[in-house]
Order: sequence, then structure tokens, then C-alpha cells
Amino acid sequence: MTQTAASVQDMAHHLHPFSDNKQLKESGVRVIEKADGIYIYDNQGNKIIDGMAGLWCVNIGYGRKELGDIAKNQMDELAYYNTFFKTSHPAVINLSAKLAEVAPAGFNHVFYTGSGSESVDSMMRMVRHYWASVGKPSKTILIGRWNGYHGSTIGGASMGGMKGMHAQGGLPIPGIEHIEQPWYYGLHNEGETPEEFGLRAANWLEERIIEVGADNVAAFVGEPIQGAGGVIIPPSTYWPRIQEICQKYNILLVADEVICGFGRTGSWFGHETLGFKPDIFTTAKGLSSGYLPIGAVFVGDKVVEGILQGGEFNHGFTYAGHPVSAAVALKNVQILQDEKIIQNVHDVTGPYMQQKWREMLAQFKYVDDVRGVGLIQGFTLVKNKATREMFPNEGETGTALRDIFFRNNLIMRACGDHIVASPPLTITKEEIDLMLATAEKCIQEFEANMDAKLGA
Ligand SMILES: *Cc1c(COP(=O)(O)O)cnc(C)c1O
Repeated sequence: MTQTAASVQDMAHHLHPFSDNKQLKESGVRVIEKADGIYIYDNQGNKIIDGMAGLWCVNIGYGRKELGDIAKNQMDELAYYNTFFKTSHPAVINLSAKLAEVAPAGFNHVFYTGSGSESVDSMMRMVRHYWASVGKPSKTILIGRWNGYHGSTIGGASMGGMKGMHAQGGLPIPGIEHIEQPWYYGLHNEGETPEEFGLRAANWLEERIIEVGADNVAAFVGEPIQGAGGVIIPPSTYWPRIQEICQKYNILLVADEVICGFGRTGSWFGHETLGFKPDIFTTAKGLSSGYLPIGAVFVGDKVVEGILQGGEFNHGFTYAGHPVSAAVALKNVQILQDEKIIQNVHDVTGPYMQQKWREMLAQFKYVDDVRGVGLIQGFTLVKNKATREMFPNEGETGTALRDIFFRNNLIMRACGDHIVASPPLTITKEEIDLMLATAEKCIQEFEANMDAKLGA
């Protein structure tokens, strides 16, 4: 990357999240100045395909002027007011009605936040408050999964299963348990089918519940598809069995829909695609397509009823239901509906992209476990496909390929040695072809480098 004046100035005053800031000072940062559709543009004239929709969030694509107009009008009318103290406002009232309309049956209430992490933190406190409200205060333990991602606040990072995050700042906080992720490729036994593995992986939950005592467990929390963990899609048997276990032991089932929600998998919500019914689900990202920060916890009727018995919920954010964010989120949801964007992902672009990745990636010897649904995609870099041996120094190989993508003006992401894509939901077939042609060239370069390195 070339150091531009803007990059030098950035490094002088800006500490970046999820970055080695010392290293960044040497390499410099890419400065993105504008964006349109699936493209972002940097300050050196590069037109870059955004295969990640920002951070999995720009579902309707960049540059939709309607959202700016809505934001301006709302700011002129009512720039800010809170939703505490017996108060509301039209923007949040309208958004809530719309969200209840697009949510599955049984979800008629939302609790607002400013981000995915805040949605997860709010959910964590809410499920404990729920059990206390219905006379079971001992049910406090939350069970999540290794390699799950639930945000960066102390609660969210504890709920998540990212060991690198736990290693900093004394996490996880008490009362959180983790079970292994349902990654068939990496964890199945010889001869085990995906369906058999899915049941075995779900049963890890039952084992943990028995270990800590069902009377102590509040909820199981999982992303329908683990996103930042590398797009880990469980076998079809996994979620139905998880749901059965939660019912058997009277434990709330929570879906973290921050990535999967609002169309990513070809349904409004990921749990609809994966075939289960949570009691609560958390959202953010695609709720506003990232145009403004906003998150929402969708609370099922059973949990609402319980909470209503519990008196005041001592929890809330200054910007909960922020009028400008709410107005923009409403318009975003209307665009998803009016333009039938999710339907198109389900019927056309999702299946098309899945097929094209599979066809294109078949030629490569260090690429395996190609997987995806809708417009979320992952594959894994492995040293030996026959033995499923991974590369040493997890993440190093993924980052090497990721950097080649960047140099070729394609944004994809490496999660360890899993490579993932999550383009805007508005991407066309032609744009998918272009993205994959670029990716193909990059992976060819990567394999040539790797052959040279391994002496193959
Ligand atoms: C991104 C993400 C979060 C955190 O959202 P922020 O808005 O970054 O706080 C939580 N859960 C999942 C599944 C996510 O992908």
C-alpha cells in the first residue's frame, strides 16, 4: 500500500479497531473516499469490488440517495429524542410496526440498541431478567460456542468464543460457557455423515446443560451461521436438535442474527433458512444496511409476557431507537421489500453465486470445504485436501491470500484460514461473474506462490 498524505495523517491521530497499530503505522491505511453499488473507491483512483458489503452490513448497496434524504428530513424534524421515561416518537413507532410485520409469527416487540454488541449485551441481561421475573432466578448461565462472534463489548466478547479476544482484558466474565462449533469438515469422525455429525455437535449442548445443571442455565446463544468464525454452516440436523434440547431443559434459544438477518441467507432471518424458532434474536448491521448505527433485539411473545411481570428493566441506551437511525432503517427495510431484494437472493443471485464459486474453486488444490447459502460464502485453505491437514500458523495463509485480493481491488476477508465473501444483496449476476473472475486470478497467484514455498 502506498502511504498517502491522508494515510500519514490518519496514523498520526487514529487508533484502529482489530488492528496491529504499530504495524499499520509502517504499512499505512487504505483511504476510502466514496462508494456506489458494490464498489468502493480509494484516494488513489482505485475502483474496488466490495465482496464483504463493508462489514457484512451494506445489504442494499452503497449510494442510495433516498436514505440521505430521509435522514435529512428526520434531522430537520426531530434530530434526537430518547425513548426512556414514558416517551416515544413517530420514527421509532413506525419502524417497530414494520419490524413486527417482517418478523416471523410470535415476534411482536423489539428493544433498540446502537449496535450488534449492544444488542447482544441487552439480550444477555434480558434473558436473566426474564428468568428472575418468572420466578427462576437461578437460571443465569449463558452457553455459547467456540469461534462464535457476538461483538466486542465485555458481554459480547465473553458470549463469543474468540480465544484471542478472551486473552485480552480478563474475559470471559463469569456465567458464560462455551461448547465446540458445529464445523463438519474440521471436526467430524471418519465415516460420519454431516447429519450424524450435526446431531453429535448439538448433543454437546445437552452434555453441558447436564454438567452445569438445567436449573442454572438461562439460554443457548448462537449465530444461525457463524460469520466472523469463517462462515461455518451447521449440518441440517443441528439446529432442530438444538431446539429440541432447549425445550427439553426449559432453556431459552437465542439466535444472533446480526449478520444473517435482513436477507443475507435468502430469507428475512437466518433461523428461517436454517429451520428453527428462537425465543429471542439479536440484529444490527443489515437493519440499516450500515447507513447509520442501529440494532434491535426481537423479543418473542413468551419472553415479553415474562418480562412484563418483572417490573422495571434497568437497562437502556441514550441512542436506543434514535429517530434518524430509525427513519433510515425503516426506509432500508422498505427498499428490501419493495425491490424484492431478498426474494432475488433466494431465487436468483444466491443459487447463482453458490454454483459459480463451487465450479470455479474446484480447480484449486489448496482450497476445500466450499460452502455457502444465499449471499454468504466460505471456503478453507488447506495444505492437504486428502488428509484435511491445515496450514501451520493459523491465519497466516488466509491473510496472504486476502492481501492478494486487496492488491487486485477485491475485498474478501480471511477468518483464520477460512476465506469468506458477503457482497451487497443487490449484486447482479454480471457483477458476481466479475468478482469471481478477479478472485480466480488471485487464487491462481496464491497457489503458484504456495507451490514455490512448499517446493511442490
Ligand atoms: C458484527 C457482529 C456483532 C457485533 O456487532 P457490532 O455492531 O460490531 O457491535 C454481533 N454479533 C454478530 C453475529 C456479528 O456479526
